[in-house]
Amino acid sequence: MNNQTDDVIIGLEVHVQLTNLKTKLFCSCSNDYRGKEANSYVCPICLGLPGSLPVVNKRAIEFAARLAIALNCKINQQFWFFRKQYFYVDLAKGFQISQYNKAGGRAFADEGIVPIKLNSHKKSIILNRIHLEEDPARLVHKGSIATSPYTLVDYNRSGVCLIEIVTEPVLSSPEEAREFLKQLKSIIQYAGISNLDLEGSVRVDANISIKGHERSEVKNINSFREVERALRHEIIRQRNLLKRGKELIQETRHWDDKRRITITLRTKEFEADYRYFPEQDLVPIEIDNIFIQRVKDELPEMPVERSRRLRRDYNLSEFDADNLVLDKNIADFYEDGINSDALFGPNEYKQYCNWLMNDISGWLNENNKILNDTKLHPHQIVDLIRYVNEGRITTKIAKTIIDDIMKGFSIAEILEKKGKKRISDENLLKKLSTDVIEENPKIVNDSKENLKAIEALIGKVMAKTRGQADPHITRNILIEILKEKGIIK
Ligand SMILES: [Zn+2]
Repeated sequence: MNNQTDDVIIGLEVHVQLTNLKTKLFCSCSNDYRGKEANSYVCPICLGLPGSLPVVNKRAIEFAARLAIALNCKINQQFWFFRKQYFYVDLAKGFQISQYNKAGGRAFADEGIVPIKLNSHKKSIILNRIHLEEDPARLVHKGSIATSPYTLVDYNRSGVCLIEIVTEPVLSSPEEAREFLKQLKSIIQYAGISNLDLEGSVRVDANISIKGHERSEVKNINSFREVERALRHEIIRQRNLLKRGKELIQETRHWDDKRRITITLRTKEFEADYRYFPEQDLVPIEIDNIFIQRVKDELPEMPVERSRRLRRDYNLSEFDADNLVLDKNIADFYEDGINSDALFGPNEYKQYCNWLMNDISGWLNENNKILNDTKLHPHQIVDLIRYVNEGRITTKIAKTIIDDIMKGFSIAEILEKKGKKRISDENLLKKLSTDVIEENPKIVNDSKENLKAIEALIGKVMAKTRGQADPHITRNILIEILKEKGIIK
């Protein structure tokens, strides 16, 4: 079913944990709760015990400023935290410390833009605001939330710093939402504030409506990958109701990722139900221009700038450069690789990009891994390209050894293991080299000016031996003959 129609309206609220912080937002408990014993990373502040007083983590303000600048938001230089009251088991205090952009309150930053590209069509996703808030505790269910016989609460997550990024309702399809989240994830990675590959580091609420009808809010979509799925499901559900002549009601629904459906959670609370008021235990926050300028100066290169630089410095196409920069680790790997070989030029830059984005990325997807999980070293791709360009192996063979390369084996090791015995018989190699020199007068002539032409001659010997000639010995023999003939010095 095609959801790419112009009557769908989607707005997203993306909650991102600042996993690169060392401590929680209002206390000095460790942020690194994953895999730790339940309820062991807690203190009176994040448990909300009476008499405990929160203190703002300055580094969290700095991280929020980094993101605001990277997203082109306008930072509000003075704001208060607000209490958002609601009663739920994940909230020890009975309220969440958050920000509120009404009743004299302000978000951390307003507006902002994330440019996206979908099927070569460009669009700017306009943001409404970003704000800081504390994460509630983690609820653990047996199986699905709807059928679990119990709920367990782990307060280790309580008080971890979240940034909420709110878009305007400007997304018009699940695919656009996917592209937006992809770019947002990339910007967050480059800003160095969070690792969104960590389980539970991201939660998305989505407002979805069909033009002219009430909207529903789908809560707690727990990964970026699930967002597209949840949106597709919800759009089809709403369309089917309308088709049957039913009217939609404004409601809050829950995405059940096990059953892959949305279910009614409760009818929508209205904002007044949260009884927002300024948090009196915290002083107003003031951010001066010097602080903002410092954060700006220290902000690393962002993906858009990097793509531009890669196009300029390595002669890559816009498509290649945009794909490469999306994941900072892959882009870093790429630049490490191509810069490790002084002889590499535009041809090899493009080849390296192709190996990385097609074969290597394909392998990573198939094996559900990220680059840093593997033993692959940037120099292995350099070797691979050399082996192929020198004719020592064919592209077809190169593709069959990717699996071994990903496990950290060198190409020489792999070929040896695969029984590709080297030919090191000097008499045989001498005869083959002499033949090659006679058969290729143009390349021989080129070698007078450019010693790199010898690589092409090695390739020809390789071709005659189906890649089994020892390249080192072959090279020496070729140079020897060319010297004897007075072609090179
Ligand atoms: Zn604490």
